[in-house]
Amino acid sequence: MCCSAQLTETDLAPQSMNPAYLDAIKGMRFFDPHIHMTSRTTDDYQAMADAGVVAIIEPAFWLGQPRTGVDTFKDYYSSLVGWERFRSSQFGIKHYCTIGLNSKEANNEKLSEQVMEILPLFIYKEGVVGIGEIGFDDQTALEEKYYRAQLQLAREAGLPVQIHTPHRDKKQGTQRSMDIALEMGLDPHMVIVDHNNEETVKEVLDRGFWAAFTIYPFTKMGNERMVEIVKQYGTERIMVNSAADWGISDPLAVPKTAALMLERGIDRAAVELVTYRNAITAFAQSGQISEADFDSVKEIDQSLKYNGSTILRGGQQPRPNKQSTIIR
Ligand SMILES: [Zn+2]
Repeated sequence: MCCSAQLTETDLAPQSMNPAYLDAIKGMRFFDPHIHMTSRTTDDYQAMADAGVVAIIEPAFWLGQPRTGVDTFKDYYSSLVGWERFRSSQFGIKHYCTIGLNSKEANNEKLSEQVMEILPLFIYKEGVVGIGEIGFDDQTALEEKYYRAQLQLAREAGLPVQIHTPHRDKKQGTQRSMDIALEMGLDPHMVIVDHNNEETVKEVLDRGFWAAFTIYPFTKMGNERMVEIVKQYGTERIMVNSAADWGISDPLAVPKTAALMLERGIDRAAVELVTYRNAITAFAQSGQISEADFDSVKEIDQSLKYNGSTILRGGQQPRPNKQSTIIR
């Protein structure tokens, strides 16, 4: 309580629910093709909906600590097509996912073999728009083995692939990821290479792949750098995501980047391509994305239940759907 005497009334006032950047992007719709909502709160969902995020893709990733058995993968994949999708719908956001064994966990061979066996049970489910996120972390032999096996699976299933590129040795890891994808017979137009930066973007685009950029504080890209990339490379096959997860990250990275791009003179049509349209075009190759669903999910009734559970807790009132003529 040392500092309370110095606080003024202004310091204590709640932050505005409508920060200035929301005015700049009013009426725009956003698609975040990489965000881990399992690790986020309902406040995040609400803020995303308020900022214009209408649909998202949640790639399967690692939990932050080692798994003890294949059943935890089963439960996790089930939650991505089940409970998390339902939770998202309660805020009017259409939720898709990609399913895969991520690079970090691929290093546990015994578990990986078991995961490969259950993957076909999940990748054909409704709303699964690709195999992901897969690729390299430490660039080990086991990572390569399961990356190849999953590329094969994607090819057989006719699904897009969402590639996680490594933080260490990024340039080499990205090149290797693309080399192997081509070697395994994938069409680059079915492959979204994620977590690009200034060092990797040119080659990814030149080789015909999609280039995704993660706006993630401190470790990946800031959105001022993203503005420069769009100014230099244009909008073709480029998309922006937040990759928000359990780390320090920003679930509003896509709408904030859109606002910054407009402010820095990029025209609205270009901003729309990199923060909405391109990601839809890439992942709709799965045959699982329909923009009409973005509107139907807007019919929000937070008193609905999923397997007997609701997002409301004891005595809470649901957020009413003010568009509905029915008053409950
Ligand atoms: Zn991720």
